[in-house]
Amino acid sequence: RRLRVGILFGGRSGEHEVSLMSARSVFRAIDRQRFEPVPIGITRSGQWILPHDAEALLGAGRGVEPADGEPLAVVPGPGGRRLLVLAAGGAGRWLEPLDVVFPVLHGTYGEDGTVQGLLELLDVPYVGAGVMASAVGMDKAVMKELFRARGLPVVPFVVVTATRWRREPAAVIEGIEGTLGYPCFTKPANLGSSVAIRKCRDRRQLADGLEEALAYDRKAVVERGVDARELEISVLGNDEPMASLPGEIRPRAEFYTYEAKYTEGGAELIVPAPVPPRVVEAMQRLAIAAFQAVDAAGMARVDFFLERATGRLLVNEINTIPGFTAYSMYPRLWEAAGLPYRDLITRLIELALERHGERA
Ligand code: ATP
Ligand code: MG
Ligand code: MG
Ligand code: MG
Repeated sequence: RRLRVGILFGGRSGEHEVSLMSARSVFRAIDRQRFEPVPIGITRSGQWILPHDAEALLGAGRGVEPADGEPLAVVPGPGGRRLLVLAAGGAGRWLEPLDVVFPVLHGTYGEDGTVQGLLELLDVPYVGAGVMASAVGMDKAVMKELFRARGLPVVPFVVVTATRWRREPAAVIEGIEGTLGYPCFTKPANLGSSVAIRKCRDRRQLADGLEEALAYDRKAVVERGVDARELEISVLGNDEPMASLPGEIRPRAEFYTYEAKYTEGGAELIVPAPVPPRVVEAMQRLAIAAFQAVDAAGMARVDFFLERATGRLLVNEINTIPGFTAYSMYPRLWEAAGLPYRDLITRLIELALERHGERA
C-alpha cells in the first residue's frame, strides 16, 4: 500500500502564496509509486479545505479560497497514529486516514509550531521540526538570544514591542541609534520571505519600518545593517544532521527583498558558493550548531552573512520550512550533492516516520 501523504499548503500567513509555489513542486515531484499525495489547502483565514482540483488550484497563481474545495474539520481519530479529516459540510464524510503529513507552509500558523502542535495532538508523523524548534525558529528575537547563548555569532539587535513603541517612540529611536546606528533593518519577529522587512537609513525610515513590522507582529526586531555576502546552507537529518555545501545569493535589489526572491531574475543563486574551504567548514559547523540549538528535525536552511570588510561569518537565521520549489536554494543544494528533488522528499518523509517511531 502506498503511504497517504497529506500536503498542507496556503495558510494564515504573509507567505501564503509562497507556500502554493512550494506545494505545487512537491505535489508534482513526489514519488507516486511509494506515496499517494493528499493535497489539503488552508485559506488565508485558516479554513481547511479538500480541493476540488488541486492541480488547478496550485497552478492558479492566487490564494486558497473557501470555494476551492470542501470544508474540512480536523479531529483526532480512534486508534491513534492517524489523522482523520471530516468533511464538515455536506454529508460529514470521513476521509481515509493520512499516514504522514508534509506541512508545506511558510511563516505564521504553519512554520511556527502551531500546525505541528495540532499534528502532535493527532499523533500523526510530519515532516520537519517539532513544536518548540518551529516556534523558536520562527521568532527571530528568541532565536537570536538562543544562538548568542550558544556562542554563535549574530548581528547586534534590539527587540521592540508594539506597546513600547506606542508608549515611548522617541526613547525607542534614541536607543536604536545609540546601539545600532544606520543603516539598520526592521523586521516583524515572526515572518519570512522578507515580508515587511525594511532597510532604514535615517530616523524617518526607522519609524516607518517599525510601523510596518509592527503591523504584522506585536514584536519587531531591529538589527545593525551589515555589508556582507549572503550565503545559505541546507541541513538534513534528525539527531545526526548533515550539512550541504553553501550556496550564495546575489540579489539584484539592494537586499534580498520579497520581489528579489519571487521575481524571475530578481536574484542570482550560485551553487555551490565560490568561497574558500575555511568558510565552507565554518558554515557547516555553525549550521549544524544552529540546527541543534533550536532542536530542529528533518530539515532547515541556515542563512549567513559573510562580512565584506572583515571576512567574519554571522548567522542570520534558521528557516525550519525553507522555500521548497524545485528551484529553491534548499533543494538545489541537495541536488548538487547528488540527492535529487524527488528523493529529498522521500528522505524527509522517512525522517518524519523515524522521528515519530523513536518517540512511540
Ligand atoms: P526568509 O525568506 O529567508 O525566511 P526572512 O523574512 O526571515 O527571510 P531575513 O533572512 O532575516 O528575513 O532577511 C531578509 C533579507 O534582508 C536578507 O536575506 C538580507 O538580504 C536582508 N537583511 C536582513 N537583515 C540584515 C542585516 N542585519 N544586514 C544586512 N542585510 C540584512
Ligand atoms: Mg526566515
Ligand atoms: Mg523563511
Ligand atoms: Mg532569510
